[in-house]
Amino acid sequence: MQLDLPTILLLYKTALVAGALSIFHVSRHSCRPQGLKPLAAAYLLLAVGAELAGQGEYSMLPLWFWTHTSLLLGALGYTLFWAGARALSGRRRVLPAVLILVPGGWLVLGLVTQFPLDNLLRAGAFHLTAAVSLTAAAWEVWHDRRTESLPSRPLLAGLLLASAGTFALQLLYIATHTASPQGFALAFSVQMFCHFGVALMVSSLSNERAEVRLEKVAQTDTLTGVGNRRWAMSMLPARLPVGSAIAQLDLDHFKHINDRFGHAAGDRVLVATADALRHQLRDSDLLARMGGEEFLVYLPDAAASAASAIAQRLCGAVQQIRLSELGEDIPITVSIGLACVTSAGGTWADWLAAADRALYDAKRAGRNRVVTTHERTA
Ligand code: GH3
Ligand code: MG
Ligand code: MG
Repeated sequence: MQLDLPTILLLYKTALVAGALSIFHVSRHSCRPQGLKPLAAAYLLLAVGAELAGQGEYSMLPLWFWTHTSLLLGALGYTLFWAGARALSGRRRVLPAVLILVPGGWLVLGLVTQFPLDNLLRAGAFHLTAAVSLTAAAWEVWHDRRTESLPSRPLLAGLLLASAGTFALQLLYIATHTASPQGFALAFSVQMFCHFGVALMVSSLSNERAEVRLEKVAQTDTLTGVGNRRWAMSMLPARLPVGSAIAQLDLDHFKHINDRFGHAAGDRVLVATADALRHQLRDSDLLARMGGEEFLVYLPDAAASAASAIAQRLCGAVQQIRLSELGEDIPITVSIGLACVTSAGGTWADWLAAADRALYDAKRAGRNRVVTTHERTA
């Protein structure tokens, strides 16, 4: 079946309006809708521009009006498209002055030279703007994968690039005077597919971002910013490998700190403790607040002697914390039960229980110390 150009253009405009509506809908229900409103507006501007061009061709609109205006709307639409994709991808804004530079430039050049009255020149200017803006948008989306990798990112970048490539190819046909109505019909049907896909991927990217944010919130301790128990449980390997170590840390006499200095001071102690511990650990180590004044540290790659030295360092770092309240220094120390995994086969729960028993021994022995065990069972 061969579709004619007016039918394809009608479907193309429908795709743009549907894209605008779906992106606008997502932006209304997103808690951080960066870039979505400019993108929805860009889709609408492109649809209005395409409608104006279509109406102009077949109806009584003054030539100068629809030619200049449709080019202006098309150029503004694609520049806004780039700005929206940029904001969506990496939350970077584009100054309004930059936004009006390209469409404004075409408008002034058009008014001075009247080139938009020539169909091929006008189409050339529109295709050039679209190809450059979409390539820039694809680059932004692809480039930001390093800071935020989301499954829909490469698909979105790919669709933007496919759309840019189609415009560039048409531009080549226009420049070489080989453009044909059939060619335009085919190109606009590809654009229709790409714009539908882009709208879909923009929604997916927003949803994926919200999911990642929710998951992060669910796994983070709100007071200290370190991982919580749920996160720790999900990160620990089912069976701890030989050569790793797990430690249970518990602040000493924390109830007394709360009673003597107040709950808010107790909270400050917890935050300072988490910071001090984090500073002593590598990125590959795991630190979590298990609840109350208890922390867990997992060292995936630490033989017994190294793990013991690290635990001593953690103990010393907590003792070095200097916080004062009511004109007094708050005495902050921690007891640590360390379990070094020296035999294969134990689950993390077995080794955590061993670390817990060592912690109990550290408390009994006078606190502010490390007790190490190599035994999984008591
Ligand atoms: P020990 O040296 O034997 O560990 O004694 P402790 O006082 O540290 O232990 P205990 O378990 O008796 O007290 C822990 C206290 O931690 C009791 C609880 O009110 C307090 N706590 C738990 N969560 C928080 C919190 O988020 N903020 C503050 N400020 N206190 C908390
Ligand atoms: Mg405790
Ligand atoms: Mg305690």
